[in-house]
Amino acid sequence: MVKSVTTGPEPEKFVYSFGSGHAEGSGARKDLLGGKGANLAEMARLGLPVPPGFTITTEVCTYFYANRKNYPKSLKDEVEGHLKLVEKGVGRRFGDASNPLTVSVRSGARASMPGMMDTILNLGLNDRTVEGLAKVSKSPRFAWDCYRRFVAMYGDVVMGLKPMDKRDRDPFEVILEKKKFAYGVHLDTELPVDALKELVRDFKAEIRYRTGLLFPEDPREQLWGAIGAVFSSWMNERAIVYRKLNDIPETWGTAVNVQSMVFGNLGDDCGTGVAFTRDPATGENLFYGEYLINAQGEDVVAGIRTPQKMATLEKRMPAVYKQLLGIRRTLEDHYRDMQDIEFTVEKGTLWMLQTRTGKRTGFAEVRIAVEMVEEGRITAEEAVLRVNPDSLNQLLRPIFDPDAKYAAMKEGRILAKGLNAGPGAATGRIVFTAHDAFEWAQRGEKVLLVREETSPEDIKGMNAAEGILTARGGMTSHAALVARQMGKVCVAGCEVLRIDASLRTMAVKPASSDMKVLREGDWLSIDGTSGEVIEGKLATKPSEVLQVTLEKSLDREHSEIYRRFAVLMSWADDVRRLRVRANADQPDQALNALSFGAEGIGLCRTEHMFFGGERILAMREMSLADKTEDRERALDKILPMQREDFIGLFRAMGSRPVTIRTLDPPLHEFLPHGEKEREAVARLTGVDPRLVARKVADLHEMNPMLGHRGCRLGISFPEITRMQTRAILEAACRVKKEGIEIRPEIMIPLVGHVNELADQGAIVRATAEKVFESQGIRVDFLLGTMIELPRAAITADEIATVAEFFSFGTNDLTQTTFGLSRDDAGKFLPEYVRREILSADPFEKLDQRGVGKLIRIAVDLGRGTRPALKVGICGEHGGEPTSVEFCHRTGLDYVSCSPFRIPIARLAAAQAALRDGAKVKNAPKSVSAGTVKPAAGVPATGSEPAVVAASGTIPAHRTSSRPAAAPARSKKPATAKRAVREAPAKARRTVRG
Ligand code: ADP
Ligand code: MG
Ligand code: MG
Repeated sequence: MVKSVTTGPEPEKFVYSFGSGHAEGSGARKDLLGGKGANLAEMARLGLPVPPGFTITTEVCTYFYANRKNYPKSLKDEVEGHLKLVEKGVGRRFGDASNPLTVSVRSGARASMPGMMDTILNLGLNDRTVEGLAKVSKSPRFAWDCYRRFVAMYGDVVMGLKPMDKRDRDPFEVILEKKKFAYGVHLDTELPVDALKELVRDFKAEIRYRTGLLFPEDPREQLWGAIGAVFSSWMNERAIVYRKLNDIPETWGTAVNVQSMVFGNLGDDCGTGVAFTRDPATGENLFYGEYLINAQGEDVVAGIRTPQKMATLEKRMPAVYKQLLGIRRTLEDHYRDMQDIEFTVEKGTLWMLQTRTGKRTGFAEVRIAVEMVEEGRITAEEAVLRVNPDSLNQLLRPIFDPDAKYAAMKEGRILAKGLNAGPGAATGRIVFTAHDAFEWAQRGEKVLLVREETSPEDIKGMNAAEGILTARGGMTSHAALVARQMGKVCVAGCEVLRIDASLRTMAVKPASSDMKVLREGDWLSIDGTSGEVIEGKLATKPSEVLQVTLEKSLDREHSEIYRRFAVLMSWADDVRRLRVRANADQPDQALNALSFGAEGIGLCRTEHMFFGGERILAMREMSLADKTEDRERALDKILPMQREDFIGLFRAMGSRPVTIRTLDPPLHEFLPHGEKEREAVARLTGVDPRLVARKVADLHEMNPMLGHRGCRLGISFPEITRMQTRAILEAACRVKKEGIEIRPEIMIPLVGHVNELADQGAIVRATAEKVFESQGIRVDFLLGTMIELPRAAITADEIATVAEFFSFGTNDLTQTTFGLSRDDAGKFLPEYVRREILSADPFEKLDQRGVGKLIRIAVDLGRGTRPALKVGICGEHGGEPTSVEFCHRTGLDYVSCSPFRIPIARLAAAQAALRDGAKVKNAPKSVSAGTVKPAAGVPATGSEPAVVAASGTIPAHRTSSRPAAAPARSKKPATAKRAVREAPAKARRTVRG
């Protein structure tokens, strides 16, 4: 039947068929079939109703670009063969004037790219077949409506009739508007058949006029035109931008899906919808979605008509709703994750058009992962791997201060309420275009992007904005989808807003007052958790998790968000090997860090202690001093202050390790630079102002980054190292006397040669002995160094003869490895990244090839000398997931990062360990799936999981979906794989009783 499939020794296969009950491909072939095609095949295999069609593979896309937009020779025959199959399945023929087959042509890359690539519907219609469709459907109006939509879509996507620029309107829209005006109607649906026929004619004329080309009447020409357009769209600008933002390689290519049409616009027993198997904003286990009666394809997502809530479908189409609930269950059982589905109802019959793993907020990510473990669907390991570490940011992100919000309410500043599409609190100045959002943000402004609705072209601006507010579109609109994915605050579908982007105004009439008009630059706040739009700037306060952990203003029992966060983190902590410490300089920061789960301090920058009040004065005195005695006198003033700081730090951290770095920045940084300031210092220190000026000039350096800093200071002025050692160890002795077994680690910065460390080490050790003697108590401490110079890394074997630990200062190590000053890199580094000369900013993501290689060398050399060498990282990379994974692989003992990134580092470290094959030991007994091996074929019990009650929610599908799912299970004997998957659920039920 399909020759190219069966002939030849190694037949090349470029096309795969699918349809209810059968498919040549499967969900496992996303690389070949793209996400959409693979999942259509998978749904077909699951026995779900899928309109028959076929997928042209991503290999053809690769071939297409490698061969100047030509196709493999055998493709034409293969497509013809598969088209015949579809014709047979549907009972209609492509191009048949009496009963025509129409198809959609849909793109689908391996990773879903919402709205990036264009879909064409109703393909196969022409002046002859439209009459056939009119007859078969008994609705000329419907047939001509499909036809005029098709001509416009084809003109737009394939023939390139797009608006010329931002101000230009869609040419087909303009013609449509005129037509409606001429016929005196408001809605598209009110246009009579004759008007639709005229539209087809006018659209074609416009195409002819603008392109000089004729609209193709031949369905096969249409088909190949559309296929070519899908492949070409892989390289359109918005697709490229999206791929960049989401790290999708260009080489993947897209597949093309050709699928027989089903019609949601044939009357009131028809419709189309999109749904999530769980709430994508909160993660709650309920069926969540939207639909439109008598509508086709994109209507729901385009935000043109505001759709109905899923729950209301139960009344309008009870049988369909019930079937959908069953499918919801089947899909979750099968994919074991929340799904995002598209469906269409034609004359009361349900058709599935798409399923994919649903995008979700960070809140939903955590909730679904944890609850799916509790439901026995997935293992704790899978749950930990499923949550993107960066998503935890959302759980830590501020919310509006309730008092400030209450005040705003009383003042009548709550302007409107839209859909709570992306949780969190955002406040910023209004801009009306994505372009402005980007420009303003570049200038350092906080902006809110306010749009009628968003489109893929807006992505860059959405990314730059604090939050996004739209007047149209539902929870599944483009704005909502993209915002959730980016983790942006978003309020969508706020219909009462009257937005005029050209006048740059937003008008709204709140219930409590007269019409208000806001302009570009005005402050506005949006609450993405409640959907409220609030006039003015609003104070924010810490998230629920922080209220529990940091502020202690909320009881842990009262926060479900915290509970799930804590459960997930407990699994992560259980499995990770890397320890996680914080970079913290002061006791309050240390307490912060502890509440985020820090297991120690990896970097305390002592100089940060020097800037407050009197301290800076003493520091300046010391910096200005010419003679050792003068310096010592100034240092004597600093000593007690510094000791107090360390006492606070040690008390806060208890027996956890605390790494303290000796003075690092050049003295110049402590001196005043303005003339007035210099005079003030002269007065206070009793030094001649001219002398002060001279000293400032003396200390000035051409290149301070490589100048008189780090251990070089301690070598020139040993009294500094002496004083700091005294402060650290006297504090340590004091706290130890309080009964705390503390573990200080003294770290010497910017060592390049072992002799530098030996010099400083001798000072530290000699001072320590004196301190211990006078205090009458000893404290075990470690002496180590930062590795932040290439020379240190490649002579680490020598350095380890003195150093008891290494801490990689990857900020400086990146600067010195690249020979690149971070402060000056802003001028050219972004372009490097844009042009892919560097794949990422090396100050954000550790450069594993270069800087990473030095780290690996240093670890190996260092441990060669001293097997017990403790090794960590304290650069900002310590909180960046890919760098954390690198640290795990390289065998570091810990990472240290800023307090707010600690949960992220903990999760990233756990994921690295899991990829190494580690297992969660403290997972709920029932779900350590790999280990519980029940007898195969154990049937699922009929009772509803008790755990549902524990989370306080009762899913909507509770009773109705159960019967639908059960027979599907008992149809065939459970395979071994299925048994393993079901076992945890069963076991849990037993455990929970
Ligand atoms: P996207 O990737 O942008 O979601 P899709 O290929 O899923 O694009 O298609 C866009 C819209 O067209 C969807 O709403 C889908 O349900 C609808 N659609 C696609 N193919 C068909 C078809 N064969 N019959 C009816 N509707 C279809
Ligand atoms: Mg889709
Ligand atoms: Mg440094």
